[in-house]
Amino acid sequence: SELISQIAAGEVIERPASVVKELVENAVDAGATSIEIRIEGGGLKRILVTDDGCGIPKEELGLALKRHATSKIRNLFELENVTSLGFRGEALASIDAVAAVSVQSLAEGATRTWKIEGGEVTPAAGTTRGTRIEVRDLFYKTPARRKFMKSETTEAAHIADQVSRIALANPQVSFRLWNNGREMLNLPASPDLEGRALKILPSRLEVNHRVVDMEAGSMSLVGIVGLPAAAKAKADAQYLFVNGRFVRDRVFAHAVRAAYQDVLHGQLQPSYCLFLTIAPTEVDVNVHPTKTEVRFRDSGRIHAFVQKAVETALAPASA
Ligand code: ADP
Ligand code: MG
Repeated sequence: SELISQIAAGEVIERPASVVKELVENAVDAGATSIEIRIEGGGLKRILVTDDGCGIPKEELGLALKRHATSKIRNLFELENVTSLGFRGEALASIDAVAAVSVQSLAEGATRTWKIEGGEVTPAAGTTRGTRIEVRDLFYKTPARRKFMKSETTEAAHIADQVSRIALANPQVSFRLWNNGREMLNLPASPDLEGRALKILPSRLEVNHRVVDMEAGSMSLVGIVGLPAAAKAKADAQYLFVNGRFVRDRVFAHAVRAAYQDVLHGQLQPSYCLFLTIAPTEVDVNVHPTKTEVRFRDSGRIHAFVQKAVETALAPASA
């Protein structure tokens, strides 16, 4: 029923930034090299995401908006070893339940562009490969939720945050974001993480950072860590990823903090962007589709490894 759809949608779509996250992750999954995001009214009025990925074939356009329709999991084994970002086939259906959605796409190998809007598939203008998804009037069906939204500026900042996280995990993809026609982010494709990270992390890091790059068996930690000279009072530039997914994790964060213990005193916060890669069986990411939590099977081992990798990078000898 529509009510059940709306309740389920509330779990996935909490605010405009949740919509942007799902749409942009889908574009990345589709192999896009360039993703453009335009928002109006902090995303509540309008969100438009355009990508140059593989597109959606005409016969799958209707399906894409249906619950549990995903083209990304073929069997149970894959379900347990999910590596692509989206995995439940719920995002588009959830967005469709709480907003007015139109999807337009020119699929790889197809000769024309098709569009679905209000359940109807029609031909559309458009000659470049890829997908264009427009979301209008978010939460117009659920005014109670709309009331909880913060100011447009706050929602736009959350959106920029979400895009930044996805951009850090995908340096080879170019991202641009505009709010009410004003550019918020312009991130050209970068050959490496360092180049991308230095565009997103505070500019004082450009000269004040070290590269982290350590491997041990099936584990690796790569990224950049700010030197104490670039630390400040606010912890606004701390990014941690596990297997390409942004996380907030106490074990991971504590290990980084511990590595800074001897070089950073007082209340100052270092900036960093770190990517931990571990075997999928060593971590449970399916705690909740939208949550940023993970559970490590052996957190002691992760802690020791992360601390050592960051300490090594920060050590004066590696200058
Ligand atoms: P999931 O990403 O979990 O599969 P979604 O609801 O986010 O579920 O998307 C449903 C399906 O729609 C995807 O599996 C994919 O086949 C298709 N799709 C959505 N967005 C895009 C896009 N930008 N490019 C290509 N295909 C897309
Ligand atoms: Mg998805």
